[in-house]
Amino acid sequence: MKDTARPRRIAALVAAAFSCAPGLLATAEEAVEPSRILITNVNIFDGKTEKLTPGAVLVEGNLIKQVGAEIGAPAGAYTLDGGGRTLMPGLIDGHAHVMINAHFDTVEKNMDLTDISLRAVRVMERFLMDGFTAVRDMGGPAFGLARNIDAGFVRGPRLYPSGGFISQTSGHGDFRDRADAGFSIQDAGDLSNFERMGIGNVANGVPECLAATRLNLRNGATQIKIMAGGGGSSRFDPIDTTQFSIEETTAIVGAAEDWGTYVAAHVFNDRSVARLLEAGVKTFEHSFFISEDTMEKIAAAGAYVVPQMWGISPDLARNPLMPADKIPMVKELGEQYADFGRNLLKHKVKVVFASDYVGVFADAERARRYEIWWRTKTFDSNFEVLKQMTSTAGEMLQLSGPRNPYQAGKQGVIEAGAYADLILVDGDPLEDITCIGGTDKWFDAEPEYKLIPTIHLVMKDGAIYRNEIDGKLSPAAVRFSGARYESLLTAPGVPID
Ligand SMILES: [Zn+2]
Repeated sequence: MKDTARPRRIAALVAAAFSCAPGLLATAEEAVEPSRILITNVNIFDGKTEKLTPGAVLVEGNLIKQVGAEIGAPAGAYTLDGGGRTLMPGLIDGHAHVMINAHFDTVEKNMDLTDISLRAVRVMERFLMDGFTAVRDMGGPAFGLARNIDAGFVRGPRLYPSGGFISQTSGHGDFRDRADAGFSIQDAGDLSNFERMGIGNVANGVPECLAATRLNLRNGATQIKIMAGGGGSSRFDPIDTTQFSIEETTAIVGAAEDWGTYVAAHVFNDRSVARLLEAGVKTFEHSFFISEDTMEKIAAAGAYVVPQMWGISPDLARNPLMPADKIPMVKELGEQYADFGRNLLKHKVKVVFASDYVGVFADAERARRYEIWWRTKTFDSNFEVLKQMTSTAGEMLQLSGPRNPYQAGKQGVIEAGAYADLILVDGDPLEDITCIGGTDKWFDAEPEYKLIPTIHLVMKDGAIYRNEIDGKLSPAAVRFSGARYESLLTAPGVPID
C-alpha cells in the first residue's frame, strides 16, 4: 500500500469536492507531488534501541524512505538541519478519553454532543503539539473527529476510536444517577447522558452485547472497549467486582474478531482477568491489583497491559477533587502496589503508555505530562517508558488488523517504510525525560496550557504541524492523505460539506 500515486488521486477527489472553494483547492494542490524532506544532523532514537545514533532521515510523501549515517539529498528534496537535536518517533497514547473533556458531572448533566466535540478539537490539537501522533480513544463518539482529522479539517494525532464503551447494568459504564435507573426491570429508566451521547452503552445478555459491539464496529471502531470490573470514578460498582459473564465476554470478543479486530478491557483484579484471557481479550487497561501469576499469563498470551501509573502515585492524594474520606485509601493502595510496574517488567509483560484522565481537558494534559515523568520512576527506566510510548504502542495499534486505517507503514519506530511521524527535541530523552514534557508537577503545574519548549518539530504523516527550526517550512500545509478521508468522500450517504 505504498501510496505515491495516492496524493494525486486524492487531490483530484478534493478538487471535485471543493470546486466551489478555491482556498481549499489551493491547499490540496500542494499535496499533488510526494514531498521529500531530508532531515540531517540529528541523533536518532528509533523507538527500539537504547541509544541515540547520529544520522539523517529521508521522508518521502507520508513515509520514511531511508535512515542512515549520511544521506545525499535527492533531487527536489528539502533539507532541514536538525542542529544535533534528537529525532524520535511521534508519541502514542494507548488510553485516553478525548470525548470526556469536562468534569464528570458536567458531562453527565450539562453538555451535549456539540460541547464535547468542539472541546475534543482543542484536545487533539494540543496532543499533536505535545508530540503525540497517535491516540487510542477508550470510549466516546470520536468517529467524526477521526474522519475530520484525516481529512485535514482538524489538526490532531491519528485517532483510534473505540466508540461507546460497553458496560453491564450496574457496571463501570452505568453512569445513571441513583434514581434514574428505576427500580424495576419493566421500567428501563432513563439513559444516562453518557449513553445518550454515545460515550458508553449499557448492554446485558449476549444479544444486547452483540448489538452494542456491532454498532460500534458499524460506526468505525478500530477496537472494542468493555468494562469488565468496578472502578474508582463510578458510584454503583465496587472496585472488587467482576463484570460481564463469560458468555457475554466471549460473544463480544467473537464479534470483534469477526471484524478482524480485538477487545480492550477496563479491569483491576485476577478474577476478571482470568475470564477475559479465556475469552480472548488482548489489552488489559489499569490492572493494578493483579498477581504476578496473572502477569505471567498475560505475558504468555502475548497480551498488553495499559496502565495509567498515576493511579498508584502518592501525588494522586493531592487532587483537590479527591473526597477527603478517600485519601487514606488512595495512599494505601499506592504503597501496596508500588512494585506493579517493576513486576510487569519482571514477567516480561508488554506495557503501553496511558494518560487515561477523565475530566477537564487542561487537567488531563497536566496529568499526561506528570504521567510521563512518574512512569520513569515506577519502571526505573526512561528507555522502557519511551518504548511504551513508541514501538510497543505502535505494535499494539496493529492489533486492529484490517480495521486499522493506517496500514501503509509501522508507527512508533524510525525505520525505512514506517510512517513519517516524527518529533525533534532538544536533549536526550534516554537521560532526561523532561525534554519530551515529563514533569514532577501535577496539581501544582501551571493550569494554563503552554507548549513544551524543548519540542521543536512535529511531523505527522509526512506533514509538518509544528516547526520552530526553520521558518521556511511553515507548519502544516494540510495534506489530504488519510485513509478515512477517502471513505469520507466515497461512502454512500456521507455528506462532504
Ligand atoms: Zn479510561
